Amino acid sequence: MSATRAPLRSLDDALVALLAHATRLSGTETVSTFEADGRVLAQELVSALHVPPQDNSAMDGYAVRCADVREAGVVLQVTQRIPAGHHGHALEPLSAARIFTGAPVPPGADAIVMQEDCELVNECEGGVRVNTVPRSGQWIRRAGEDVTRGAVVLARGQRLGPAALGMAAGIGLSQLNVVRRPRVALFSTGDELVMPGDVPPEQMAPGAIYNSNRFFLRALLQRLGCHITDCGIVPDQRDATLAALRSAAQDHDLVLTSGGVSVGEEDHIKPAVQQLGELDLWQISMKPGKPFAYGKLYRGEGAARGPQDACHFAGLPGNPVSSYVTFMLLVRPFLLRLQGVADVAPVRMALPAHFDWPRGDKRREFLRVRRNAAGGLDLFPNQSSGVLTSAAWGDGLVDNPANTTITRGDSVQFLSFAELMG
Ligand code: AMP
Ligand code: MG
Repeated sequence: MSATRAPLRSLDDALVALLAHATRLSGTETVSTFEADGRVLAQELVSALHVPPQDNSAMDGYAVRCADVREAGVVLQVTQRIPAGHHGHALEPLSAARIFTGAPVPPGADAIVMQEDCELVNECEGGVRVNTVPRSGQWIRRAGEDVTRGAVVLARGQRLGPAALGMAAGIGLSQLNVVRRPRVALFSTGDELVMPGDVPPEQMAPGAIYNSNRFFLRALLQRLGCHITDCGIVPDQRDATLAALRSAAQDHDLVLTSGGVSVGEEDHIKPAVQQLGELDLWQISMKPGKPFAYGKLYRGEGAARGPQDACHFAGLPGNPVSSYVTFMLLVRPFLLRLQGVADVAPVRMALPAHFDWPRGDKRREFLRVRRNAAGGLDLFPNQSSGVLTSAAWGDGLVDNPANTTITRGDSVQFLSFAELMG
């Protein structure tokens, strides 16, 4: 790696280069299915049974034999009652079974007539009049209609969401083997930073600002299933930066910093990472978010120190919106890959711009926008990389290619924050 002259790279190239380093973490753990939301499967889930296990009723009503009901108005004898969780016996000709949603269909029955289409007659004698002609198979949920025995229900590398947890439970799994959480150490850099709560707004010194990046980065890491060590603010000093990075590298998979990745003499991240390992400082052709650093912090001592035992390093720009956007476009896919997720590309949507963007930029832009009720996108008026309001107001980004103007009504590429955060 070289960091002498930072080359201008495309975002796509930067992402490919970054993901080339994201080898899946080797550790796995077994967790309760209850606790597995957001985790990534380390095993394939194969179903040991059909779901549903047998043919069952999709309605409250009567199980019948179609051959008995060739015309509306036929009266059948109700000979059994089958609630969910119980099973009946073979249905004799000219009889019906009172049945409830989810109850197994008795042998011999080939249709369910919903109770709204039936009426009880001679209540004491237990007859039911069927006021419709059933179609064979109607209102029967077939065994294995959802999952067949032996089918792969969820693949290895699949990220578990609420529906996937329900599927795992539905095939009888109370525990799941998942990739261990990435351990991430988070640092903010900058002597101007003050923690909210430490100093009230009216007592802020000139030049001081509150540390906002620390809050959104923590929340973003949390949503990606990381185990976070929040190491707070590192002062803009060489020795302090070195000591902080060296120590964090020992027991983390990734050290993530915000700020200090430019090349001014107050930016200590670059020389510190170079001293402790290796660094690629990229000037990415994107706006916001030009500077981004990837590196390795070597662990071990003496001859044992080297890339074979290293902690990943990612350095985000300090400007809040740049930090936010580069996290979502670069660090998020990296962290998902560490957990073994194969497809890390966010889904894009073509939506109409309800705004004009008369000046394209020579860098690819990620404009903060919001979907409106008319199905289009509104633009936040101030797109400066320091204006975090744009990200809090917006619900996503327009990926606008370099040197491209937008005219109201044009179809543009939209990436939702919901997609980029989860
Ligand atoms: P830097 O990348 O360190 O040169 O910072 C670029 C800009 O982002 C400066 O205006 C910093 O004050 C601001 N900045 C850096 N870190 C943070 C942070 N954690 N929260 C809010 N603003 C920040
Ligand atoms: Mg700084």
